[in-house]
Amino acid sequence: MASGGGVEEVTNKQVLFKEYVSGLPKESDMHVSTSGTIKLKVPEGSNAILVKNLYLSCDPYMRPRMNQPTPGSQSYVDSFKPGSPIVGYGVAKVLDSGHPDFKKGDLIWGMTGWEEYSLITKTQGLFKIHHTDVPLSYYTGLLGMAGTTAYIGFYEICSPKKGEHVFISAASGAVGQLVGQFAKLSGCHVVGSAGSKEKVDLLKNKFGFDDAFNYKEEPDLAAALKRYFPEGIDIYFDNVGGKMLDAVLLNMRAHGRIAECGMISQYNLEQPEGVHNLMSVVWKQIRIEGFLVFEYYHLYPKFLEFVLPHIKEGKITYVEDIADGLESAPAALIGLFTGRNVGKQVVVVARE
Ligand code: NAP
Repeated sequence: MASGGGVEEVTNKQVLFKEYVSGLPKESDMHVSTSGTIKLKVPEGSNAILVKNLYLSCDPYMRPRMNQPTPGSQSYVDSFKPGSPIVGYGVAKVLDSGHPDFKKGDLIWGMTGWEEYSLITKTQGLFKIHHTDVPLSYYTGLLGMAGTTAYIGFYEICSPKKGEHVFISAASGAVGQLVGQFAKLSGCHVVGSAGSKEKVDLLKNKFGFDDAFNYKEEPDLAAALKRYFPEGIDIYFDNVGGKMLDAVLLNMRAHGRIAECGMISQYNLEQPEGVHNLMSVVWKQIRIEGFLVFEYYHLYPKFLEFVLPHIKEGKITYVEDIADGLESAPAALIGLFTGRNVGKQVVVVARE
């Protein structure tokens, strides 16, 4: 710790993005550096905030950010900059502020850097944390981007009705585990798929799904879905795309709805797989709708009002997979693409 001109300067451990990635990302695509330093003060005249990062969120959309940008590319997110820290959602404490809306001691969630301390210049998308009687790490998941995604995707996009039959893929993950619980609260019949026995057990015994199966053990996905939904699926919350989506299309009921939340099975492929059963959309009159959660952040206060009482009454539960320290962050992030995470993948940088 050094102090020059009265301003404290400290080392700042960082996870740097090394080079653009093709295929499955590797730990070695990132590098943990301890050579950086940072002044714990916002530069004179700036309206930035200086934060201490507490919890970081590992999210599947970060994989497309590792792609080399190509002219005319259709990605909805900018690529990471080689040599710069990874950027993502996190929970942080304000140490210094040049912005009238933030003061020292405030807790926030939103975009920050994968490092111990960050100078955040784009403060528009940050949320102030007002409810601290729940675990702070929840603001990386349940009370942050993933939770809002589950809420918007299920209630706004799927328009659920009591008694409907709901299927969720990647059902034990950050988003999926909540969609299932919301669907149960709405009186739906809910089945989820996940990639291990441990995850299937969680779905049935912790999150209250009516049933669940391990898709990796099903050579014929369409036949498996037929077994779990003999009368068909009313609502599909799609987190994976690919072969599962094709199999679901064959098993949808007339006037069914599909929320296109994500397609993680496609994120590491050079060429996306095709979808073959789209004719079902026509003759079953299915509505398929994609959505991006950040277009709905104006509904975040409504979501909090809905979900906080459910958490406090024990009606909503949340499983997190906690990785300790920035050193563990690269492995935690790439683990999303092999299903290593059980529940919401969080990285703890500091607890206060
Ligand atoms: P997550 O489910 O916590 O973690 C990813 C999981 O995906 C893994 O644990 C793994 O679970 C499964 N997976 C990985 N590779 C797969 C493959 N090739 N085929 C099938 N499943 C695979 O992640 P999350 O944060 O909840 O995100 C879920 C989905 O929502 C992602 O597609 C993400 O991009 C999307 N999302 C969209 C928005 C939006 O605004 N639209 C916002 C947030 C998230 P298994 O072990 O079960 O395979």
